Amino acid sequence: MLKIPNDLSCYLNESGMGSALKIQPINGGYTNQVYLLETENRIKTFLKINTIGCQSVFIREADGLKALENVNGIRVPQIYGYGEDWLLMEFIEVSEPVESYWIDVGEGLAKIHLTTNEKFGFANDNFIGNNLQVNTWNTDGFKFFSEYRLGFQFELACQKGYIANDYCKLFDRLIFRLHDLIPVQPASLMHGDLWVGNLMCGPQGVPVFIDPAVYFGWAEADLAMTTLFGQFEEDAYNAYENVRPLTFGYRDRFDIYNLYHLLNHLNLFGVSYLTRVQNILDKYS
Ligand code: ADP
Repeated sequence: MLKIPNDLSCYLNESGMGSALKIQPINGGYTNQVYLLETENRIKTFLKINTIGCQSVFIREADGLKALENVNGIRVPQIYGYGEDWLLMEFIEVSEPVESYWIDVGEGLAKIHLTTNEKFGFANDNFIGNNLQVNTWNTDGFKFFSEYRLGFQFELACQKGYIANDYCKLFDRLIFRLHDLIPVQPASLMHGDLWVGNLMCGPQGVPVFIDPAVYFGWAEADLAMTTLFGQFEEDAYNAYENVRPLTFGYRDRFDIYNLYHLLNHLNLFGVSYLTRVQNILDKYS
């Protein structure tokens, strides 16, 4: 049974929600423990508890959700409060999608990506799973992606002993070729961890984004991640392009962007992700 952190109990009472009445574990938290918490005043909330002690992880998640909320592209859960090891937000009731659901997803994501910035990065570093995601501002998208995305995770994988010498050479070659493989793109506001599981169909059948790792980066990388573990319906990509046209051949580049997330998964969950990492490096050798 979950012991509610003291500062969360205080928050519940001071905010007028009332003490916790019912706490029910929810399946599906890959990184955190997640619960439906109902209060005395019958308010349903979604509670995340971090058990491994990354102290700023939830402050950063809340920052990201607020950045997405501000651009009004796709609905996100409202944040109620957070502490060092807890995050409390609106509980999203799942419902049946409206007919325009996938079109709404595509148009909403395009709207988020149309929010651009002079520099790549974000106001703070944040987390991708429980791994650090470095967001140091940089005017050069290629430098940003090679150093703080691919390079950071590749280095970690080397330290953990996953990477053989031959693959270090292939990795260097890929980094060297990035300018030829990727078109110049603006720094777009991104969800940052947009696998299909981080899209929910909320009340009234509208799309809701959860669990982001927000930064300004290459929008194509967000689209790539939507295909990494499943994918959106085709209507979403078509609707996206009607609002924000994409550079020819964008799907051919997905593997390069997804290498970041596969390296992260290798570092978080282990060797079962190594073959997918190696296949991408082989493809660009
Ligand atoms: P983690 O940080 O561990 O990856 P998630 O934020 O992905 O956890 O949440 C785990 C699961 O809980 C999601 O896949 C989704 O099914 C459900 N979920 C997430 N946010 C909410 C919410 N605000 N309301 C209701 N259910 C949610």
